[in-house]
Amino acid sequence: MHADDCSLNEIVQGVGKFLRRIIGEDITLSTTLGPEPLTVFADKGQIEQVIINLATNARDAMENGGAFSISTGLTVFDGRFIQSRGFGKPGKFAVVKVSDTGKGIDKGVRGKIFEPFFTTKEFGKGTGLGLSIVYGIVKQHKGYIDVDGHPGKGTTFSIYLPLSGNPL
Ligand code: ADP
Ligand code: MG
Repeated sequence: MHADDCSLNEIVQGVGKFLRRIIGEDITLSTTLGPEPLTVFADKGQIEQVIINLATNARDAMENGGAFSISTGLTVFDGRFIQSRGFGKPGKFAVVKVSDTGKGIDKGVRGKIFEPFFTTKEFGKGTGLGLSIVYGIVKQHKGYIDVDGHPGKGTTFSIYLPLSGNPL
């Protein structure tokens, strides 16, 4: 990992140029940037990879069109929250949320989606590696990933990355 202090908003804006290509013409795209500075100690290329993998899944979940959105922001996690998640440290985190209005993730498979080679896609349409790569990258950055949503109503992935210096 080649980490440096970088602006999460700049990373998201940079990836923004490729998103249309990934999600296609029929999906509405919106980006909302949170307050500067959202400086994270991160490998820029890997964070771009995270967003691209999530966008690819969002496209696959919206075969009949829909809306795709990315937003950034800032949040504080206390010790109790962190303890319930099992790794990392409390402190200030930058967050990037990636949402779609696609078919959603069934409760029964939600616990498996980060496993390598787990896929619900037909043969040839998915390797099941996208989210395991995302998970590995987030963990390397001492961050957290959350998934939320309801079958039929879409999905939101939230990626939390420690703010540079991680002050509380
Ligand atoms: P793949 O895309 O190759 O199937 P991933 O690791 O990227 O592998 O995703 C694993 C599974 O998680 C997918 O097959 C799908 O069932 C589910 N999934 C991931 N993202 C979404 C999403 N945005 N909407 C609905 N299901 C999703
Ligand atoms: Mg995928």
